[in-house]
Amino acid sequence: MCLNPNESAPNPSHFEESEETASAHRDIAWNDYRDLIKGMRFFDPHIHMVSRTTDDYQAMHQAGIVALIEPAFWVGQPRTGLSSFKDYYSSLVGWERFRSSQFGIKHYCTMGLNSREANNEPLAEQVMEILPLYIYKEGVVGVGEIGFDDQTPAEEKYYRLQLELAKEAKLPVQIHTPHRDKKKGTERSMAIAIEHGIDPSWVIVDHNNEETVKSVLDKGFWAAFTIYPFTKMGNERMVKVVEQYGPERIMINSAADWGISDPLAIPKTAALMKMKGISDETIRLVTYQNAIDAFGKSGQIDVTDFEGGYEIDQSAKFHGNSILRGGQQPEPVKDSLVIR
Ligand SMILES: [Zn+2]
Repeated sequence: MCLNPNESAPNPSHFEESEETASAHRDIAWNDYRDLIKGMRFFDPHIHMVSRTTDDYQAMHQAGIVALIEPAFWVGQPRTGLSSFKDYYSSLVGWERFRSSQFGIKHYCTMGLNSREANNEPLAEQVMEILPLYIYKEGVVGVGEIGFDDQTPAEEKYYRLQLELAKEAKLPVQIHTPHRDKKKGTERSMAIAIEHGIDPSWVIVDHNNEETVKSVLDKGFWAAFTIYPFTKMGNERMVKVVEQYGPERIMINSAADWGISDPLAIPKTAALMKMKGISDETIRLVTYQNAIDAFGKSGQIDVTDFEGGYEIDQSAKFHGNSILRGGQQPEPVKDSLVIR
């Protein structure tokens, strides 16, 4: 798919392509890297698990991901009514959190009105009315992902309103920076946050690249990087960013969603960093600790919940529902060729 960058993409996930040259994303076979990261723990601060399968959860758990943050986002097509938002927000603190727990992964989320749907103003108004009902819930570690998509006046209006909401609730802000005109959109997002009196140390600016990172760090914001398979930020480029800037206030995520994406982007990048001689402590900061420090300002993250492994009770139920199908054993044998 090759889009004209001047045209609005019809239905982009985080992974729409641009005129940027595709970068090498090194997909490393599990057997080649798992020893390199043995014993490491990972925290994915941006991943959309409602779009992912139980296989993904299992693979993530096996690769050392112990906790994650699921930002509220665009589901691939416009929602037509408020109820869809309500059900989605409820799933982030309800069923999806339960499902994650069944695979030994602690699940947090951020709540917000995404930038694309901010452009449906009548609906956006209604969403703003219900958002306060969700942002104070347990396990909500920020307002996000919010910011700009096409950089329209409506997007700016609801971005500003949600910054005020975050301030009021004393929650970190997770900013989605636009794929088109990224540099301009990133600068504008930061300037507006500062204008609203938000301390940059409470703001995680996401989807950075080599063009935006310096300014984000210089201004005191957290710089998050999404490892995109095949386009944009590949993990080889990510290693170079960490070599150049060091680990301070930098974190990586997968932003895996319903598009082509990789829920194992963090462990794979950690392995690549290890191969390239980056220290274990630097790897720990950018793949685990920095995300905890940034989103932990919410007061919602207790590392004792997951640092020593997260207890799985696969016989547990959520409102009477289980992830198991009739007669299934709680722990399927994944390595077996025979599917029982
Ligand atoms: Zn996202």
